[in-house]
Amino acid sequence: AKQTILVTGGAGYIGTHAVLALLNAGYEVVVLDNLVYGHRELVENVLKVELVVGDTSDRALLDNLFATRNIAAVMHFAAYIAVGESVTNPAIYYRNNVNGTLTLLEAMVAANINKFVFSSTCAIYGMPQEVPMTEHHPQNPLSPYATSKWMVEKILADFDFAYGLKSVAFRYFNASGANPDGLLGEDHNPETHLIPLVLQTALGKREAISILGTDYDTPDGTCLRDYIHVSDLADAHVLGLKYLLEGGKSDVFNLGNGNGFSVREVINAAQTVTGREIKAIECDRRPGDAPILVGSSDKAKKILGWCPQYADLSKIVADAWQWHQQRHG
Ligand code: UDP
Repeated sequence: AKQTILVTGGAGYIGTHAVLALLNAGYEVVVLDNLVYGHRELVENVLKVELVVGDTSDRALLDNLFATRNIAAVMHFAAYIAVGESVTNPAIYYRNNVNGTLTLLEAMVAANINKFVFSSTCAIYGMPQEVPMTEHHPQNPLSPYATSKWMVEKILADFDFAYGLKSVAFRYFNASGANPDGLLGEDHNPETHLIPLVLQTALGKREAISILGTDYDTPDGTCLRDYIHVSDLADAHVLGLKYLLEGGKSDVFNLGNGNGFSVREVINAAQTVTGREIKAIECDRRPGDAPILVGSSDKAKKILGWCPQYADLSKIVADAWQWHQQRHG
């Protein structure tokens, strides 16, 4: 019989891609999403899996779900993700990302479900002290968003010790791109990420892309980021799940490409891919941005056998462009 996986936040950008990867790997999926930012039609019409509309902080809902479905493991994507908003409104970040996750974990323990795959972030490292960053890099989260993810990692360690809950936490670098067959993609509102903003500019939805800082100590003065294709990210989650289902111990893994691309390189790649001119304006730095964020994912490759397929920036941008054109073009 197929194993059933509960995917929280399964109507969001990374969650939808993970659901697709799970289906392709032969799992059954139930999505739990409150639809504050998620997309109902992607779950119901594209992925065609059951959508339970609700919150991770709704203990009664969770108890009912765990009692009525035979859930083998939980993949947890449901979280707020806007770094800037987390600085001005930390309460909702701690309530949703920490409190909601705690309720989910308590319900799992009560239901004897002890496999958990978690979306964490490279933002827990803070300013890089070495490049590429490994999982041993010191941790110094610089925003309530990053702190909320860091706190959950701590909770997971304690829940393993006390209750035997086994988890894999993935620390993402810059998730980007879209499913290569064009079914799924990134659609945040409001959008703050570079690649979708650049593509919106190519579509004429925006006047210009703002380059947020041109005086960094980098080759062209703009920040370097490690862009990782969302389908590669999704594959890693399936591997992390299998690892846990086969009895693996709790662990944390970076997910990145190991290559840094500058903001200007991303804009140039998008001009080539789209064949359109993309107007860029040089602006001041955005507070809190690190000059370079590049990760080593050797650990995920070694322990999970992860093998990213789309490390090429132009492939990432091309897949995102295909999605943007059909969704917003
Ligand atoms: N960035 C930019 N213009 C924008 C949005 C982002 O120049 O309109 C830069 C940002 O300063 C960072 C990089 O693009 O160096 C990636 O930012 P994003 O918000 O996509 O991801 P982050 O690295 O913050 O997670």
